[in-house]
Amino acid sequence: MKRSTIWILTVVMAIALLGLLAMQIVYLEKMVAMRNNQFYENVKRSLNSVSTLLEQNETKYFLDQDLTEAEQMYSGIRKNSFGFGEGNDSNIDTTLKTLNPADLRPANRNKLKALNDSYQDKQEILRGQFLYQKSMLYEVILNILNHSSDRPIQERADSTTVSSYLRSELDFNGLSLPFEFAIVNKTSGVVYKTSGYSPMSQQDVYTQLLFPNDPKSKQNTLCVTFPTKSDYIFSSVKFLVPSLAFTFLLLGVFLYTISVAFKQKKLSEIKNDFINNMTHEFKTPISSISIAAQMLNDDSVRKSPEMLKHVSGVINDETKRLRFQVEKVLQLSLFDRKNATMRLEEEDANASIYNVINTFKLKVEKYGGHINANLDAEDPIINVDRMHFTNVIFNLLDNAVKYRREDVAPELTVTTVNPDEDHIQITVEDNGIGMKREDLRKIFEKFYRVSTGNRHDVKGFGLGLAYVHKMIDLFGGTIRAESEVNRGSKFIITLPLYK
Ligand code: ADP
Repeated sequence: MKRSTIWILTVVMAIALLGLLAMQIVYLEKMVAMRNNQFYENVKRSLNSVSTLLEQNETKYFLDQDLTEAEQMYSGIRKNSFGFGEGNDSNIDTTLKTLNPADLRPANRNKLKALNDSYQDKQEILRGQFLYQKSMLYEVILNILNHSSDRPIQERADSTTVSSYLRSELDFNGLSLPFEFAIVNKTSGVVYKTSGYSPMSQQDVYTQLLFPNDPKSKQNTLCVTFPTKSDYIFSSVKFLVPSLAFTFLLLGVFLYTISVAFKQKKLSEIKNDFINNMTHEFKTPISSISIAAQMLNDDSVRKSPEMLKHVSGVINDETKRLRFQVEKVLQLSLFDRKNATMRLEEEDANASIYNVINTFKLKVEKYGGHINANLDAEDPIINVDRMHFTNVIFNLLDNAVKYRREDVAPELTVTTVNPDEDHIQITVEDNGIGMKREDLRKIFEKFYRVSTGNRHDVKGFGLGLAYVHKMIDLFGGTIRAESEVNRGSKFIITLPLYK
């Protein structure tokens, strides 16, 4: 896949996912707002009903009071003025019921007249009673209008009643969550409140004017809060949470996939580079050897022993170079095999390093430089594979020469010390081109080569340090690098001593 295709896919997927996420968030917000509105409406309806119930309660109170008074008065009046007993009432009824037109003979006229009189009396009484009831009702209404606000609000709306009304009305409107409330007077402030009533902000308080006919200055308000309101609202929209979670999961997977795609892309580019480098590295010695072979075919060359020596020397050197390159490529296969073939044995680190330095001396001196050895570690016996250990030191020295500064003679220093009684520390230091901090972090990665290095005429596979790192790891040690651009680099290996 082309890099641009990956980018286009990334952008399209990112837009789609972010759009999905944004829409879900908007939907969630809308749902919460709607739930809040619904909640508000239901609470308002409940509070309104509570207020009506309290007013009805008050009316009943005044009715009861006035009725008791009237009852006493009325029973007195009935006995004294009208002279009608309950027995009389029933007499009229039975008389009227049994009255037949056939009975209306002159002989009965007196009886009927008496009856009519008593019937009119009865009507008078009923009328009187009605007028009385009416006036009493007026009185009750007047009482309510004039005196109800004189009663203390604690009596008119006592906390138990308000609480039970609130509970039943809220339940009726489908709000079965706990509440706290207070009664607040317009002039004197909070009249009473429940223990948990402590609103965080005025927005959390739902209010309802109680007894709206009271004079303005005496008006009371019922204030209600719901401490668990946000949980209640959330619980009704929480079914949306999994969908959000899935979107985030999708986003995570998407980011991971993209990062893998880019990594793969980079790896394939690196592999291409690697193959290019390798071809180059092989081509040079091969062409040298091929030229040498052609020269050997030449009679004049064959006849001159000096020329012959020179050509055979070239073939020898180039074959060595080729073998070294092949060795490096073979090292690559080590990374993919889990258990690289290792023959661990006791090895004198100082002696081993000394040998490598000896073979390297000539190469450094060829560039006018020196290699110094301060091999001061005591009892430097380590448990390593000899061949691989030698390769490690060789690779580090090879890099130190490869990445030397053009204008400065290479100065290499190899040091061994004992940082403690169980370890040996091997340091390979040079005065070469050095590396930037961000490169330093990556040089031990497979195929990594410092791309901006100004010595990129120096061909390599980016495998040397990865190999070194892997080997040191297998020997149970650690390696780190310190470097400064145009000053030099320092590779520090710590290995456990063989006991
Ligand atoms: P190669 O040398 O084949 O490129 P290495 O794994 O040996 O691969 O090194 C990785 C990179 O680290 C090199 O490309 C080089 O830029 C940098 N590097 C390694 N050793 C040194 C050194 N002594 N001084 C400066 N840069 C170095």
